[in-house]
Amino acid sequence: MDALYQEIILDHYRNPVGKGLREPHEAEVHHVNPTCGDEITLRVHLAGDGEDARIEDISYDNQGCSISQASASVMYELLLHHTVAEALATHEQFLALMNSATDGSAADEEVLGDALAFSGVAKYPARVKCALLSWMAWKDAVSQALAHGGAR
Ligand code: ZN
Repeated sequence: MDALYQEIILDHYRNPVGKGLREPHEAEVHHVNPTCGDEITLRVHLAGDGEDARIEDISYDNQGCSISQASASVMYELLLHHTVAEALATHEQFLALMNSATDGSAADEEVLGDALAFSGVAKYPARVKCALLSWMAWKDAVSQALAHGGAR
């Protein structure tokens, strides 16, 4: 893996941004990656409703390998304070990055930022699930939060 990318991942692993479970939240999910043993509990707090809702907080508590933990920290930085629609677009880009064994040169650098560091991980199918765990948990939590909001 590229040395710079490895450094970014290790830095987020050692100094995770936004870690810890906080109030208020509209939805909480728990996701597990059994192949590696990674776990995450993730909460979302939204302001507003629907795809225009703003992501006020993504709080999480996780354990597992450096890739899964760094990925949650990078995701927090990338998605916080964006609208759900914007965050879903970023989510899709990250998914595309992880599902293509490319060097990430086709990815949008401005959108993905530090998440580009995970492009090297895409070459290792077993680790892709580690990198995607927090992103899948976030999407699950957001759809639950929006479903509950719509029922109010
Ligand atoms: Zn893992």
